[in-house]
Amino acid sequence: MFNLQTCAQPTCNTYICGDGPFCFRHSPNKNELHANCVTSLLGVKDILDLSLTGAEFEDLSIPKKEFTSSNMAWCTFRNVDFSECTFITSFFDFCLFDTCTFNGITSRYSIFSGSKMLNCDFSGSSITHTNFVGIDTLHCNFSDCDLYYSNFGTSFLRDTDFIDCNLKKADFAHTNQRRVSFRYSNYEEAHH
Ligand SMILES: [Zn+2]
Repeated sequence: MFNLQTCAQPTCNTYICGDGPFCFRHSPNKNELHANCVTSLLGVKDILDLSLTGAEFEDLSIPKKEFTSSNMAWCTFRNVDFSECTFITSFFDFCLFDTCTFNGITSRYSIFSGSKMLNCDFSGSSITHTNFVGIDTLHCNFSDCDLYYSNFGTSFLRDTDFIDCNLKKADFAHTNQRRVSFRYSNYEEAHH
């Protein structure tokens, strides 16, 4: 698991980045930490116990890899391709994903809650036991996905497709939906 120690800056409760003692935002060597993170993202090795929050990433094509027990909450991702990656117990809560691709991903016990997603494509993925509570989507595609036990409760969904998905035990309670399609999906087996 990533380090749960909080930032040395008084009044900052954010988890430390790397070896600490500061979070990414308060680190004196932000550029170096960011560059190292981009190198890791673009490298062939899996990502384990990484913690870097509140950073911005743009125009990256991440090769197939596994993110495990990592924390990238509050980050902004623009035009980032995560296709074929695996996410296990990893945290992407309160992020902004703009024009990102997640085709054919595998996600288990991971957190995307509170994130804003614009023009994102998750189609053809296995996304189970994953937390999307309170997300805000516009022009997103979750079609052809296994969403077993994933939770979209209280989300604000606009122009978003869930076509031909497995929604058994998925949760769409208290969602606000406009132009959302569940065609060919078992929406009746989801909690809503
Ligand atoms: Zn801090």
